[in-house]
Amino acid sequence: MADSFSCMYSLPYFSMMMKSFVFVCSLLLLSFVSFAQTEDSVFIRRIADEILINSKAYSNLHTLTKQIGGRLAGSPGMVKAEQWGQRALRAAGADTVWLQQCMVPHWVRGGKDEATAITGNSKKTLDVVALGNSVGTAKNGITAAVVEVRDFDDLEKKKDQVKDKIVFYNYPFNPTFIRTFQAYSDAVKYRGQGPSRAAKYGAKAVIIRSMSHGANNFPHTGSTKYTDSTLQIPAVAVGLQDADWLSNVLKSQAVSATVKTAGHFLPDTIGHNIIGEIKGSQFPNEYITVGGHLDSWDVNEGAHDDGTGVVQTIEVMRALQALGYQPKHTIRFVLFANEENGLRGGTKYAEEAKEKGEHHIFALESDNGGFTPRGFSLVANAAQSQKIKGWRDLLEPYGTYEFLTGAGSDVTPLNSTQGVPVGELLPDSQRYFDLHHARNDVFEAVDKRELELGAVNMAGLIYLIDKYGL
Ligand SMILES: [Zn+2]
Repeated sequence: MADSFSCMYSLPYFSMMMKSFVFVCSLLLLSFVSFAQTEDSVFIRRIADEILINSKAYSNLHTLTKQIGGRLAGSPGMVKAEQWGQRALRAAGADTVWLQQCMVPHWVRGGKDEATAITGNSKKTLDVVALGNSVGTAKNGITAAVVEVRDFDDLEKKKDQVKDKIVFYNYPFNPTFIRTFQAYSDAVKYRGQGPSRAAKYGAKAVIIRSMSHGANNFPHTGSTKYTDSTLQIPAVAVGLQDADWLSNVLKSQAVSATVKTAGHFLPDTIGHNIIGEIKGSQFPNEYITVGGHLDSWDVNEGAHDDGTGVVQTIEVMRALQALGYQPKHTIRFVLFANEENGLRGGTKYAEEAKEKGEHHIFALESDNGGFTPRGFSLVANAAQSQKIKGWRDLLEPYGTYEFLTGAGSDVTPLNSTQGVPVGELLPDSQRYFDLHHARNDVFEAVDKRELELGAVNMAGLIYLIDKYGL
């Protein structure tokens, strides 16, 4: 065969032809890729313009925070927020809006949380707030000597000293972590497990240094989790300035404190995920989810946590509809119930997806605050992550430049039960823990432009995943 071949074409001639062929193919491929990239960058530019000129995110956030405010699971605020969420999704252009019912825990604060430190003849009021899910004290409160521990190792060393005392966990946010979520992950175990660990050695109550490195004195609430019914003692978080004061005084003298809280659980009640949907034109039975959580703590307006994620989710839908975009896949916009003290909404969403055999190709959440977007965190396999990272240049003009590992709490059950790739918007984290779960998480703390840029990056990513799949 080789001989007859060489009769017709000389080897150099063939080689030249092949090179030309490869060259032309490469040109065609390059021009196809650059055409697709140009088309994508033009469309993402249109998304950005639509959001930056016509966004409803900021005014929606104003309504949610100022007219409704705090909206903990089971509260009247939750019911109002659910009604508002349905209206907002319809106004943004959802094909359909429906409620997905789930039972939610119903914890109430029950009154004002108080703590007074007593040293000799003087008294000082400490700025405290009960942790979510905490049991209350008796009406007159609990008065006992305060024992400071830095961490769980320190608690073990002092376990014989804490019986009938108030344990003060004074574990600071590590300021050397540049990404503040690392400091949060490092410290949050004292809020979660601290009360039961101290109760095991007979402590009567705990005071916990707030999960923050803010310069203010606002106490930060958040869930605690008792390990069993016999190890439940009241728990409050204290502002950082008061925590430093208390620690300083304890260095030279004995301090006792009176702690009063009235937290308790009522029976579980009915809550809902609020879901808006745009039907896919080519793959109606394949789903992409975008979401934020509608509930918030009761001590604030739930602006950055997670009003911003909710209004960004609605804004992604509004912008795609305003541009007349016809998604290939069905896109669901979900306002999740009860992220803060139970995750019942996110759990229910994944359970029902599994029961119905729904094919979810990706789920994105925004629940890290409405600050300047820096990128996305992802939990996906190597090929899926690589594909998303390959779109960096298309999103970079709007802020996306980094990709980390991780995902929002509400979409994580889709990954853990069904292996769905999931992710989360990654905004700048420096200011989040100045206000997370504290009374200063209010509308005024959100910047309109930063909020909108977050929605631009989310919408851009959702468009690319819808167009190319994962
Ligand atoms: Zn949140």
